[in-house]
Amino acid sequence: MITIAIDGHSSCGKSTMAKNLAKELGYVYIDTGAMYRSVTYYAMQNGMIDAEGNIDTDRLQAAMPDIHISFKFNPETGRPDTYLNGIRVEDKIRTLEVSNHVSPIATLGFVREAMVAQQREMGKAKGVILDGRDIGTVVFPDAELKVFVTASAEIRAQRRYDELTAKGETCNYDEILKNVQERDYIDSHREISPLTKAEDAIVLDNSNMTIAEQQEWLLKLTREAVSASE
Ligand code: C5P
Repeated sequence: MITIAIDGHSSCGKSTMAKNLAKELGYVYIDTGAMYRSVTYYAMQNGMIDAEGNIDTDRLQAAMPDIHISFKFNPETGRPDTYLNGIRVEDKIRTLEVSNHVSPIATLGFVREAMVAQQREMGKAKGVILDGRDIGTVVFPDAELKVFVTASAEIRAQRRYDELTAKGETCNYDEILKNVQERDYIDSHREISPLTKAEDAIVLDNSNMTIAEQQEWLLKLTREAVSASE
């Protein structure tokens, strides 16, 4: 069993790839973005982010020990759901409002430290697939397979728009595109663990690929990485 790190830009289908691969291999999938989203949702719910987007970092830092994030496999969807302090927040953390606040939260050193420690603990037994921004560079630099996924911002925004619309959310393409571009910028320029391709990561630009094609590509790479590790 190996560790698989899938990093890359926002909304480029990393989680779909990771979830499908985990199902195929019987591996555990850890959605690290969901963890930063859950911290953001907690901060929003507890009045720690004001209308201008300023974060009350002192209160959030003090609250970190009270923020417990876990994943529970949902047999109906065949995928894990995210829980915050025992309450299912899977849908609540996927809104555009959370997306608009998550990247500033994810720049905070004390937030990253707590999340990375939990991710290392969750993944220490191997047989895991993690998706995020810093998995191959910081969380598991020794991962046997590292993939860096990207696609044009317009295509990513369109996919996100289709996904939210399908869920019945009213949304605006331009706002989503702006969010995708802003998150890319903040994630790539932050001081701690910025989004960057690990030297040994394999790049996948999936702008013009179907989900099935990506899956096939990833499965082939995984098989090679597993046999190389044996
Ligand atoms: O992957 P997802 O889009 O759900 O991640 C939400 C946000 O969480 C990202 O835009 C990024 O700011 C942050 N994140 C991070 N490090 C990770 C995963 C996500 O900083 N490993």
